[in-house]
Amino acid sequence: MVGAGRQTGAVGADPTEVLRQLASSSRGDRLAHLAALPDRPARLAAWPSWVPDVVRDALVDRGVHQLWSHQAAAADHAYAGRHVVVATGTASGKSLAYLLPALTTLVEAADEGGRRDRRPTVLYLSPTKALARDQLASLQALTGDRLPGVRAAAVDGDNDRDERAWARDHATWVLANPDICHRTLMLGHERWARFFSGLRYVVVDECHHYRGVFGSHVAHVLRRLRRLAAHYGADPTFVFASATVSEPDQTAGRLLGHPVVPVTDDGSPRAGAHVALWEPPIVAGRGEHGGETRRAATSEAADLLTDLVTAGVRTLVFVRSRRAAETVAAAAARLLGEVDPTLADRVAAYRGGYLPEDRRALEQALASGELVGVAATNALELGIDITGLDAVITTGFPGTRAALWQQFGRAGRDRRDALGVFVARDDPLDRYLIGHPEALLGRPVEATVIDPDNPYVLGPHLAAAAAELPLTDTDLDLFGPLAAEGVAALSEAGMLRRRSRGWYWTARERASDLADIRSSGGRPVQIVHGATGRLLGTVDAATAPATVHEGAVYLHQGDTWLVEALDLDDAVAVVREDDPDYTTTARSLTDIEVRGVDRQAAWGPAGLCLGTVAVTHHVVSYLRRRVGSGDVLGDEPLDLPPRTLETKAVWWTVTDEQLVDSGLARADLPGAAHAAEHASIGLLPLFATCDRWDIGGVSTARHPDTDQLTVFVYDGHPGGAGFAERGFHVARDWLTATRETILGCGCHDGCPSCVQSPKCGNQNHPLDKPGAIRLLSVLLDNAPAVREE
Ligand SMILES: [Zn+2]
Ligand SMILES: [Zn+2]
Repeated sequence: MVGAGRQTGAVGADPTEVLRQLASSSRGDRLAHLAALPDRPARLAAWPSWVPDVVRDALVDRGVHQLWSHQAAAADHAYAGRHVVVATGTASGKSLAYLLPALTTLVEAADEGGRRDRRPTVLYLSPTKALARDQLASLQALTGDRLPGVRAAAVDGDNDRDERAWARDHATWVLANPDICHRTLMLGHERWARFFSGLRYVVVDECHHYRGVFGSHVAHVLRRLRRLAAHYGADPTFVFASATVSEPDQTAGRLLGHPVVPVTDDGSPRAGAHVALWEPPIVAGRGEHGGETRRAATSEAADLLTDLVTAGVRTLVFVRSRRAAETVAAAAARLLGEVDPTLADRVAAYRGGYLPEDRRALEQALASGELVGVAATNALELGIDITGLDAVITTGFPGTRAALWQQFGRAGRDRRDALGVFVARDDPLDRYLIGHPEALLGRPVEATVIDPDNPYVLGPHLAAAAAELPLTDTDLDLFGPLAAEGVAALSEAGMLRRRSRGWYWTARERASDLADIRSSGGRPVQIVHGATGRLLGTVDAATAPATVHEGAVYLHQGDTWLVEALDLDDAVAVVREDDPDYTTTARSLTDIEVRGVDRQAAWGPAGLCLGTVAVTHHVVSYLRRRVGSGDVLGDEPLDLPPRTLETKAVWWTVTDEQLVDSGLARADLPGAAHAAEHASIGLLPLFATCDRWDIGGVSTARHPDTDQLTVFVYDGHPGGAGFAERGFHVARDWLTATRETILGCGCHDGCPSCVQSPKCGNQNHPLDKPGAIRLLSVLLDNAPAVREE
């Protein structure tokens, strides 16, 4: 039959072969790296002897016939009462680490009989409501009616009264998120006394999500949880599960405030795969000030999608926005139509947010082979079940290695080698990864960073803790070295009062209202859809003037909105649906003042510091730029008050003598420092799990507080989020990677892949690319051989 290769369900060409052919074509130089990841055989382990038959049978019925080594190891630790973190790859069955000990404990207690209200309980926490609901469904499918003592319930904002009451009175396994744990379970703990007094296991799933300010809040939620459990006579064992990051034991240990045993040796089998790194070519004269840019990653992805679909390779492309998903699908359809008109309708855009039946239809079409290519936003990660793909193309680094591998993990079927293609966007971090495949393929360097000592985070949790139970001197140790100071501040503000048994919460408001655990520093600004009054989300008060000012184009979960008005007094931004052909960038004036130095290191005459700074940010106007070309369409003034942010920063200085010796001309210093600052902000997310929008920078040829050339990189959240601190500790590696990125970029005068920044408040002016390389060389010449600790 003609066209059998494209027949429904048929197997297309080997995806890697398609890529190899491209590599020998005129586009060959864009394939920067192709790595073969060998398959990995499974390593099995025996079922622990303590697992009762009924639990084992239930798992066998669900297809778990044997255990992989890491599952058994982690489960053994947890059953023995040791806090454990299991950090292995996606789809490595991490849930067995807690299912085995937790189900065993519940089943055994039910067998022993005794009072039902004294039975053990389990708390499962996930970062999102949706994931908790998914887990509830799989737990129910596993246990059915056959496991006595397992009574599971999700506690979240969707509960009705009866459900909530049932969970409180009967559930032995509660699935919740940290927000509901903070507001409902803990502050209303007396009503949950049965549940807390039985608490044996706390599962913290997907714990790499708890980073930055959110992670710092969650760390205190867990401390409060331990204190409450102890009050009710319970001493739960914590089981953390995480995708692979570096130092998982430190991440989990910092979250818990107690040492945690790591289990990282992945015993699950993995099919072979190829990973390709693809770099779009430089196109001249399209960028800011007429400079160079690279061809858009989405255009390259559309071309690659076309090539793969033509060969019958089932391919999924991940992009950032719905608009990009449609653009990629439309471009590929057009190109495919030129090859063969029947191919054009075998690609589609998936934009998330569709009705469940639409999603199922799309999953079906992909599974049957009716659709061969799909372009999707990251929203696809939530609640869609697509497997059996041959290739995945990711445009732009999705922020963390874990997220990238999760996307690549969608490909692979029938034991054929899967293909993952990373297409670099025009960005320093992507540029670095193209030149350093080991950063993606080798040992991870990114650590999940939190800062529980941030006073803006700590204070509200001390208040909440006092509202739960009076705070005693011994409790303070649990909350860290700054807890005493925090309690004193709350007492001074009249919120806590000291009595013989400790500090009592005496303010009128609900203590939980003080801490919005997804943000920091004042009331977050609510993004409201003007036509319907629907709340779309929130942004931090500190960043609102730059991101949701009047006229701003605001991207939220892949949708594009236009801000009609921003009211900072009421903390509301009103938006409407719109999809203009331009983007907006705020222009601002920034001042930074050093308030205190926490740590410092001498790099020869140069210096590296970590400390507290006050950043005053004044958004004065915004630029509208045409999508694609980046041409400036207009500069609109804004009337917004300046805001001061007290936060943590890492900064470095070089002396005048060093600058004279380096031959850098005085006039070049501002551009050199500015360019080095931009590139370093672009690279920090490689080492700390932040977004480049979580951090900011200031550079100056002479700063009044240091009297030297100084480059600051600061946390964009009041009190800090741990990113600058991580920057201080890995400064040598971080700034070396920064220098290499600039040095290795093929452009002449600086481009978005090296020294230009999309969030520059100064229109990327002045920038001196060669100057930045020299300046960083001067600094790094005297860098110590080991990390700053
Ligand atoms: Zn460049
Ligand atoms: Zn700038």
